Amino acid sequence: MSDCIFCDIVAGTAPSRQVYADDDVIAFLDIRPVKPGHTLVIPRNHSRGLRDLAPADGEKMFAVGQKVAIAMRTALDVDGVNLVVNDGRAAMQTVFHTHLHVIPRHRGDKLSFAKSLVVRRDPHPDATAAKLRRALDQS
Ligand code: 5GP
Ligand code: ZN
Repeated sequence: MSDCIFCDIVAGTAPSRQVYADDDVIAFLDIRPVKPGHTLVIPRNHSRGLRDLAPADGEKMFAVGQKVAIAMRTALDVDGVNLVVNDGRAAMQTVFHTHLHVIPRHRGDKLSFAKSLVVRRDPHPDATAAKLRRALDQS
């Protein structure tokens, strides 16, 4: 185990519901989703935030975020998607391994990052991950 939970997920020493992986980037479901399907895209290389993120890793992270967002539109029947990077404590970053949030949205829904963390959960995360994985495999 390292002192970075996302490095542990990359290494496979911590569990995750992975929906996409390539040589540079992986994507997996957020453990406390703002909405079911909420996915995190991370470069395999560790960086704390935007200041030490290699630009090439940022490009790959965004490209995979775009892919996941498009897959969500069909797999999860969503109306829209937010792509978000929280950079720094003041911006609500809590895990200091750079990541891109891909958050599915439905018309008229209400979104609150700051809402009590305990109410953020998907009752069927395995089924959600399987749908998304299938759409990404076909993309
Ligand atoms: P941040 O606030 O740093 O932008 O977002 C960190 C995100 O990582 C949070 O939405 C949180 O729910 C998620 N997270 C924290 N620890 C874990 C974990 O061990 N596994 C997964 N899948 N997500 C995590
Ligand atoms: Zn890390």
